[in-house]
Amino acid sequence: MALAETRPAPAAADAHEFSKLQKRLRHQVGQAIADFGMIEDGDRVMVCLSGGKDSYTMLDVLRQLQAKAPVRFELVAVNLDQKQPGFPEHVLPEYLDSIEQPFHILEQDTYSVVKRVVPEGKTMCSLCSRLRRGALYTYAEQNGFTKIALGHHRDDLLATFFLNLFFHAKLSGMPPKLQSDDGKHTVIRPLAYVKEADIAAYAEAKSFPIIPCTLCGSQENLQRKVVKRMLEQWEKDSPGRLETISRALGDVRPSQLSDRTLFDFMALGRRGDAPLPDPEAWMAHSPAAADDELTPAAPKPDALAALRAKAFDPIWNP
Ligand code: SF4
Repeated sequence: MALAETRPAPAAADAHEFSKLQKRLRHQVGQAIADFGMIEDGDRVMVCLSGGKDSYTMLDVLRQLQAKAPVRFELVAVNLDQKQPGFPEHVLPEYLDSIEQPFHILEQDTYSVVKRVVPEGKTMCSLCSRLRRGALYTYAEQNGFTKIALGHHRDDLLATFFLNLFFHAKLSGMPPKLQSDDGKHTVIRPLAYVKEADIAAYAEAKSFPIIPCTLCGSQENLQRKVVKRMLEQWEKDSPGRLETISRALGDVRPSQLSDRTLFDFMALGRRGDAPLPDPEAWMAHSPAAADDELTPAAPKPDALAALRAKAFDPIWNP
């Protein structure tokens, strides 16, 4: 058979690639839902739709899964119109009507609040996101939603993990499922296993009517940008590294770390029930303990600054 006959035509090849991508997204989202018990029978899921590629993709894949899911659940897309200048109000309603997706547009002028409170030239994203979250959570509570779905993906989870590590000295990230502090809301992140590049390719192939999150003119947090650049460079230098780290977040071994609240190191090798000496008694004759040799669990602020500087060594961030 001639080579030309064995090769699919470009359009067919594209369709084949798209079909593979779509199946992969469905599989990864379905896996995350199953792994974390994100959706159960009778759930009313509020799908937060910003108009960005991530939330469009999340809604699209959840709708596909809903059609074949082993349980019945409701999906309602909710967008918060934050009254940013130039926000194209018609785009989301037109799209959602075209796919017959139930939705609600919530209107709240958080833009003016952020502009008033945040000094000129400072990034507004942190306060903007907090106000957005507050408005959406309140709406979810008032309307009986049992789950709130957010469009954060695998790379967002990784970036948050490294931000917490480098800037807050914590091994902590952005979990796929979360209960709000007051216990009223369960937040789910169905894209937790999906890499951003796949979402970007999917959104482009589906021609979602993207609304940029830069209408307000703000920049995302500089530290987050630096971490994202670092992750991209790692992936470029060692393809697959981000997937490895992502898997590691789901395979934590408390006995191989140093958090005494997660693992009872005290019990290891103990030979009796006699009370252990007070920690102060061990350090009483150690002058170094009072200086910059403090326990690594509680580095002094200047030591922390040095650690951060090291983490952002130009070798890591060319
Ligand atoms: S870019 Fe603008 S709209 Fe988007 S989170 Fe930041 S401040 Fe809010």
